[in-house]
Amino acid sequence: MPRACSICSHEDREEINAALLKGESLRGISRKFFGSVKAEDALARHREHLPLHLVRASEAAEVAQADNLLEQVKSLQARALTILDKAEASGDLRTALSAIREARGNLELLAKLLGELQQEGTVNVLVAPEWLTLRATIVTVLEPYPQARAAVVEALSAG
Ligand SMILES: [Zn+2]
Repeated sequence: MPRACSICSHEDREEINAALLKGESLRGISRKFFGSVKAEDALARHREHLPLHLVRASEAAEVAQADNLLEQVKSLQARALTILDKAEASGDLRTALSAIREARGNLELLAKLLGELQQEGTVNVLVAPEWLTLRATIVTVLEPYPQARAAVVEALSAG
């Protein structure tokens, strides 16, 4: 980090980081925490070093903050998988596919957060055990729908 970051030292930085990780717009976040769009640029700069910020969690509070983000992503993932189970049980293919997409996005975010925290650099989500399990589930779920399955398998190997 070249210069002191006004977001890093902001009292609501945990909420701001969570909003950034959720993909909320800079404009919206700025309005919410600064009352106007004036912080958009600062937020953009902050977002650039957000992973570093998590890695360099030097204080216990910051470690807890990073853990909290991980827990939130894990909880989202658990919910996505529950929805997938229910959709699978009721044969709701459309919802199952949405849940799979959500779960995949969560896994990517999870892998990124874990990678940053463990300072291992880039984590390839495609070899993460959770992803391999999910992938196997997907292929099984779609067994009765060969066309959909072929499309999904193709999309997954492309991505
Ligand atoms: Zn910052």
